[in-house]
Amino acid sequence: MGVLDGMRQPSHCGQWETMTDRRAELAANLAAVNDQLAQAAVSAGRRPDEITLIAVTKKWPASDVQLLAELGVRHVGESRDQEAEPKAAECAGLSLVWHFVGQLQTKKANSVASYADVVESVDRVKLVDALERGAQQAGRQVRCLIQVSLDEPQTIGRGGVAPTQVGVLAEYIAASAHLQLGGVMGVAPLGGQPEPAFEQLTKSAELVRAIEPSATDISAGMSHDFPQAIACGATHVRLGTALLGQRPDVR
Ligand SMILES: *Cc1c(COP(=O)(O)O)cnc(C)c1O
Repeated sequence: MGVLDGMRQPSHCGQWETMTDRRAELAANLAAVNDQLAQAAVSAGRRPDEITLIAVTKKWPASDVQLLAELGVRHVGESRDQEAEPKAAECAGLSLVWHFVGQLQTKKANSVASYADVVESVDRVKLVDALERGAQQAGRQVRCLIQVSLDEPQTIGRGGVAPTQVGVLAEYIAASAHLQLGGVMGVAPLGGQPEPAFEQLTKSAELVRAIEPSATDISAGMSHDFPQAIACGATHVRLGTALLGQRPDVR
């Protein structure tokens, strides 16, 4: 067998040959990811079913979300409101749980609160106020994770609240009638070992759980570092590339 046997690639123009090819590609990727996830869990002395896979479908079409749903994926993640809002509408009826994982402008909070089940990137009081208003208007409850900045020193622009500010923000979310404090989210800094960052996130998670015992979510780990995140206690991993392939530049 040649090395390329069994590998499936998009054609040069970025279109998938057929829906059947794409389905097979996603099925193969999903099986591989589930294997790695289970292995990482078992090595960490954890049960694979303690970990929820979130398929990050940003830049990919709603048809991919539909295929993933058919393959058994229940959680999807998006990072831009302009893209997520129509996609969530198109996929309504698939009973998916929508996670908003991108940096969120206050003026978009209203829209996001109308379709997101979980907002993972809550990092400031103003955004909590805006999400609370949006959730109230939509007559919904929205689960909120506090995005903790794991950069050292804290850099501006990547989003996330400094670990020292997590407690204050947690209290504030817990006191919001239409928001539910769900836990924490983090992105490990690029380069170097991710473990110290994930351990910092675990500490923030403990602080949040002391305020709200049901806030058990630790969303950590992306395609390149999810086994380490699982070793450090992640309950949710957010996978784009490993599941869907290299993101297309323009869509
Ligand atoms: C895009 C994105 C992911 C997925 O990244 P991959 O490296 O493609 O797995 C996860 N989390 C956030 C916040 C993202 O923006």
